[in-house]
Amino acid sequence: VRFADLGLSDAVMQAVVDMGYETPTPVQAASIPEVLAGRDILAAAQTGTGKTAAFLLPTMSKLGHVVPPAKKGDRGRRRRNAARGRGPLMLVITPTRELAQQIDEVCTTVAKRTGHTAVTVVGGLSYGPQKQALARGCDILVATPGRLVDLIEQGAANLDEVGVLVLDEADRMLDMGFLPQVRTIVSKCREERQTLLFSATLDEERVGAITDLVHEPARVEI
Ligand code: AMP
Repeated sequence: VRFADLGLSDAVMQAVVDMGYETPTPVQAASIPEVLAGRDILAAAQTGTGKTAAFLLPTMSKLGHVVPPAKKGDRGRRRRNAARGRGPLMLVITPTRELAQQIDEVCTTVAKRTGHTAVTVVGGLSYGPQKQALARGCDILVATPGRLVDLIEQGAANLDEVGVLVLDEADRMLDMGFLPQVRTIVSKCREERQTLLFSATLDEERVGAITDLVHEPARVEI
């Protein structure tokens, strides 16, 4: 399989060249066409398999076209958002600051070609700059669960427009006790959305508590 056969946008294909990727990894070859087709994903993939690009390349390839038009009742809500800054349209939640920073790096590289704006919010850093960044608006938000819930509660983060949700290292988020935060965050996203769940394992006992968040997913097991 070649990247050129997967259906990625021209801008994202340029980013693939920038990053020096020559051939898709197995998880990328399996996931990218399904994500582009609009399906939810339940993927078993460890760190090191190329999972970050597996979820960022196809979502960023489509982003801007994936959010369904606002329903009538949403208009007031959307107008208030606009006053506070746009988006995010896509949210990636991941358990640790280090993982968030790795995702942010790939996201920033791809965004140089696609033109998307990205913001990353993680625990352990001061709130001020993160709130200012959110207030300016962004297309993509990368976050750790605890900090994102704090920012939502403070009215600094608004997920009303999130139509693409990525749960990265889902098993680790649950191991770290983030189930309540993950539930709170998902409840703030659009009900009509595409959800991609990546986990080292898809064992029912490890991730069964959140597999209801994906709808008729394509299962990717490498
Ligand atoms: P990840 O599993 O997302 O943590 O990625 C592991 C490493 O693989 C990172 O250093 C990526 O830059 C690299 N990588 C991801 N996809 C590819 C690819 N298709 N070809 C070569 N390297 C890749």
